[in-house]
Amino acid sequence: MPEKEQIYTTLKEYFGYDSFRPLQEDIVNSIFSGNDNMVVMPTGGGKSICYQLPALLLPGVTLVISPLIALMKDQVDGLKANGIQAAYVNSSQNEDKQQEIYTQLQEKQIQLLYIAPESLSFIDNLLSQIEISLIAIDEAHCISAWGHDFRPAYTQLGYLKKRFNDVPVIALTATADKATRKDICEQLNIPNAKLFLASFDRKNLSLEVRPGNKRIEQIFDFLEDKTEEAGIIYCLSRKTTEMLAEKLQNQGFNAEAYHAGVAHEKRALVQENFINDTTHIVCATIAFGMGIDKSNVRWVIHYNLPKNIEGYYQEIGRAGRDGLPSSTLLFHSFADVIQLQKFATTSGNHEVQMAKLDRMKQYADSLSCRRKILLSYFGELIEKDCGNCDVCKNPPSFIDGTIIAQKALSTVVRIKEEEPMGTIIDVLRGAQNAVVIDKGYQNLKTYGIANDISWQDWQQYIIQLINQGYLEIAFHQNNKLKLTQRSKKVLFEGEKVSLANLAEFEKIKETAAQQ
Ligand code: ADP
Ligand code: ZN
Repeated sequence: MPEKEQIYTTLKEYFGYDSFRPLQEDIVNSIFSGNDNMVVMPTGGGKSICYQLPALLLPGVTLVISPLIALMKDQVDGLKANGIQAAYVNSSQNEDKQQEIYTQLQEKQIQLLYIAPESLSFIDNLLSQIEISLIAIDEAHCISAWGHDFRPAYTQLGYLKKRFNDVPVIALTATADKATRKDICEQLNIPNAKLFLASFDRKNLSLEVRPGNKRIEQIFDFLEDKTEEAGIIYCLSRKTTEMLAEKLQNQGFNAEAYHAGVAHEKRALVQENFINDTTHIVCATIAFGMGIDKSNVRWVIHYNLPKNIEGYYQEIGRAGRDGLPSSTLLFHSFADVIQLQKFATTSGNHEVQMAKLDRMKQYADSLSCRRKILLSYFGELIEKDCGNCDVCKNPPSFIDGTIIAQKALSTVVRIKEEEPMGTIIDVLRGAQNAVVIDKGYQNLKTYGIANDISWQDWQQYIIQLINQGYLEIAFHQNNKLKLTQRSKKVLFEGEKVSLANLAEFEKIKETAAQQ
């Protein structure tokens, strides 16, 4: 294990930094101790150094598995410019070039080898001939069908740990809920991986949701004081990106469309111009932004509702990487929800997709601090409301919801966290349907204790409890409601709960329905 001093010298010499960001040093040390590691850190948090620095101090090669073929060359060039011996192997190279790299590997001239998962089989023999010191799996959520960016080639990666069982593995991702994290570790055969969970809180991003009527006019308004600032507008369809770019151009904005159907050269140009600040606005499908390292994106708009919170959070996370105040705006429309529900039903795993979409919708409809919702989705609880979201800035009126919360939470306890929201409400309201009777729930102490509250109102209250972190949905266990650390405070420590007055919710729904 290298000395602390040697680690800091390397950090300074090769990366130019005097200090580590949160968790980086612990992660580096954990690798040197030989552990497997699971790192969940937001985009821009500084994941790369966690394996690049050890790569420089370990005796053999560090394999970096990455799906981002288009970015490999830039990444490797960047490392080489810092005097690091890095190379990549992917399908974009010719055989001579690959042969050259194989020779360098055998001659121990390479410290970091980037490789696409599809290309691993080509160097299978070679892998037995060289010393491997570390295996880094970037964008590790791609292995899980539960994540939002599943790549079949990733599912084979589990063999790496089996074959090189003494070599530490580090899996890295910016987006993984609890169940996805577990799935990643299982599939990679690293069940004892140490978990490093960085804070996802990006305080400099303001959060705002608006009803999606007259979106174009609203966008022009929004941009009034932002004419020279860099921003991204995410849309669901290619057609919308083009329509929007054109409308913005007609208003004198430097805007371009970007989607998978645009010619390769043109896409590269849009990206380059955006990075150089010649194009200010990119209207894009989600194809845009993965791996783009632009620190001064000042705003992100979602023209359409994203299909889940992971994607949404990753996309707004492209704003304000430099830490300066940045704005995000999400348009919420009923038509989008219908469209996304259609997509979800035709996708594999559709129950999970639907539940995730529901969560997204609840976020957009929320009457409590939006940042709390986002962070609780990733398992992080903040005590105070954020003050930098539209709900905090313009709060609804609240009622004392402590008794309501106690009734709901104690029902979840009595039902042993084994049922989804609907059944919990049925029990609270004393329903006599088959599930309730079959399972004998009518004998529970909380059966029928709250039939003075309508089914719909209960639904809204429970969603608020979830949004405030008092309950959690287990997406991969039939959406059963689970308790959290916070629920225990209400049940056993007398914590008071505020719930938004439901009259406010009626108002929001009316506006949404009018579109
Ligand atoms: P991620 O892969 O998590 O999105 P990167 O590894 O690309 O993040 O790092 C994001 C930015 O933060 C980069 O510009 C990187 O140079 C910078 N960075 C990383 N670690 C440090 C550090 N310890 N001190 C200062 N800047 C850092
Ligand atoms: Zn807030």
